[in-house]
Amino acid sequence: MKWPHKKSSISQVKLPGGFELDLLRDDELHSQISGNKWRKLKFNVLKAEQKRYEQILTYGGAFSNHIAATAAAGKEFGFKTIGVIRGEYDSNNPTLKFAENCEMQLHFVSRSHYREKDAKFFRSDLRKKFGPFFNIPEGGANFEGIQGCQEIWKDIEREYDYVIVPCGTCTTMAGLILGNPNPVRTKVVGIPVLNVNDGMRSDLNQKLFQVLYDWELVEDYKDDYLLYPDFHLGGYAKITPELKGFVESFKSENAIQLDYIYNGKMIFALSELIGEKIPEYSKVLAIHTGGVQGNEGLRYMGKIQ
Ligand SMILES: *Cc1c(COP(=O)(O)O)cnc(C)c1O
Repeated sequence: MKWPHKKSSISQVKLPGGFELDLLRDDELHSQISGNKWRKLKFNVLKAEQKRYEQILTYGGAFSNHIAATAAAGKEFGFKTIGVIRGEYDSNNPTLKFAENCEMQLHFVSRSHYREKDAKFFRSDLRKKFGPFFNIPEGGANFEGIQGCQEIWKDIEREYDYVIVPCGTCTTMAGLILGNPNPVRTKVVGIPVLNVNDGMRSDLNQKLFQVLYDWELVEDYKDDYLLYPDFHLGGYAKITPELKGFVESFKSENAIQLDYIYNGKMIFALSELIGEKIPEYSKVLAIHTGGVQGNEGLRYMGKIQ
């Protein structure tokens, strides 16, 4: 099996205040294995094949972009997939419907049980139930995931002052930091979408450690990036009227759809940071990490129209 070579294009976009920036269109890499999930799944899927696994198992919430992308990747590249889902089955949930259409086998666990998903006993129970599988952690947040995200730089040709990205597990940001060819010139900016304050910094450091294996080296990278943790707008998947308006006006100005959970908050944060933490004359590249399938889920929950 070969992982298809694809290159992201760049769109020039404008923020409400008139600031212009480049947007890397990872959202267009694949219609179903979207954005950073395409990046994070690449080396996971290749490893699963090398190791001769027939099944891939992973974890996520009922509206998870990662679940949808893994289901689609299994179908496309010939693996059976198993999704361990937090919560209960709902036959109308668009993400779960999609995953089932891709023939992902869904396994539902309670929220409290789900919290123990990284424990040894949890995985050995799953192996008893499903047989051998290649395990991908929630969000594709492992070494292979970071490795794939380092490759984002291959599609970045110009030099920028800032490259900005939304953060969930910080896997994408860790890849960007580690792959940065010119960290003196270009700073990586992360916008956490969860309300975790300084927790995100330690998550990020853990991710860097997974690759560098040396805390002193992790420390060496600390001037290469910035984290602005005050733009989660109330927490994960919390959608404010202001954010809704922002995503809609961004779409009418630029004809590009953002998702509300990640990229909407990231571009909103950027518009607030320009002229404050980020000087107006800066050259900025934002990474559109995809996730637009998630908007269907938000619509289904009544959080957006
Ligand atoms: C999963 C996801 C993220 C989070 O990426 P991390 O590597 O976990 O920080 C960001 N944007 C979108 C659209 C996603 O689906």
